[in-house]
Amino acid sequence: MKRLILSVLLLPLFLSTASAQNWYRGNTHTHSLWSDGNDFPEMITEWYLQNDYDFMALSDHNILADSEKWVALDYILNRQKGEETPAMEKYLARYAGTDWIETHDNKGKKEVRLKKLEEYRSLFEKRGEFLIIEAEEISAGFEKMAIHINALNIQEVIQPLKGKSVREVMSLNLQAIAKQEKTTGEPILAHLNHPNFRWSITAEDLAHVIEEKFFEVYNGHPGINHHGDKTRPGDEKIWDIANTIRIAELKQPPLYGVATDDSHNYHGGPNTPGRGWVMVRAKRLDPKSLIAAMRKGDFYASSGVYLDEISWNKKTREITFEIQADGDSNFTSELIGTRKNYQANADKGQTGVGEVLATKKGHSITFPIPEDLLYARITITSSKGATNPSFDGQKKQAWTQPIGWR
Ligand SMILES: [Zn+2]
Ligand SMILES: [Zn+2]
Repeated sequence: MKRLILSVLLLPLFLSTASAQNWYRGNTHTHSLWSDGNDFPEMITEWYLQNDYDFMALSDHNILADSEKWVALDYILNRQKGEETPAMEKYLARYAGTDWIETHDNKGKKEVRLKKLEEYRSLFEKRGEFLIIEAEEISAGFEKMAIHINALNIQEVIQPLKGKSVREVMSLNLQAIAKQEKTTGEPILAHLNHPNFRWSITAEDLAHVIEEKFFEVYNGHPGINHHGDKTRPGDEKIWDIANTIRIAELKQPPLYGVATDDSHNYHGGPNTPGRGWVMVRAKRLDPKSLIAAMRKGDFYASSGVYLDEISWNKKTREITFEIQADGDSNFTSELIGTRKNYQANADKGQTGVGEVLATKKGHSITFPIPEDLLYARITITSSKGATNPSFDGQKKQAWTQPIGWR
């Protein structure tokens, strides 16, 4: 996925002279047997390595792979009911003839030891080519609501904190992440996961918890209500409502959107890997560079569409990008934004929020950004279906970050 880009970046945020940058492809949300995923971390990591990813984060619920952990073979078998090939068989076959796999009997029950990240990291990592980022899905809640926040490049586990409301729980956990970042000096990127899972987090919640800077605009789990329902907005609309409130009312920067797998099943089943990822334009493949680039908004989210170049010229107010060819696919790019004179809460649907302002076809696209917008962003949709869809009729897409709001 890496392509060296020598470009004059037009964004004043970046260097004004030519600079070498790469696009790095990564999935930041993955589960393993360390929590409720159904494969061993080495097997999952190898899948991402072989499927053209540059980095990945194993993000199990409320745990890091840094302690002694044995799991019962019964648990492993239970986690893969109805799926094609047993995890244990594949694991044994992969490491046959080595002493890598450790098993023992615990009161007559067979157990397998899960490898720590520090033990298996060196099997896969290669400087500049493949990186594993330590991560946790801090899985908090409020009443029946799921408040799940991924913390990438975390150094010590954070146990989920409780609070008196959804917003307070979000805020307290984000503050705990920020505190660890300050103490360790290591940047930690936090993204709020699947807001519509159990209809947990509204666009208004996302807008008002301003410590939150990133959220999942696409998550590959089929149970996360990506499209919303008759009365509740889908993930893209949530993004627009939250960003409109942030910019217009709270005078805060918009949220950036990531796409992730949130994979749990690796032997068939509903929730397999390879559905959502981010493409980050960074100097180097290391956590610091990747997180710095994402904090500048220098990345896009994807479920199958790749962009070769994106530049935003603040002076001429034009965004230009190139879409990579994909066989005979056609692409539709939609410029989406909210005008400054939108009607807040006009019919509770907030008239004019996240409107499609222009549509273009083709591979080389330029959109002028009107002056009267709070922000603009682009969704690109391919005519081709997603390779591994999480919902019926899913097309390959890409989502660029909001611009024109500074
Ligand atoms: Zn979750
Ligand atoms: Zn998850």
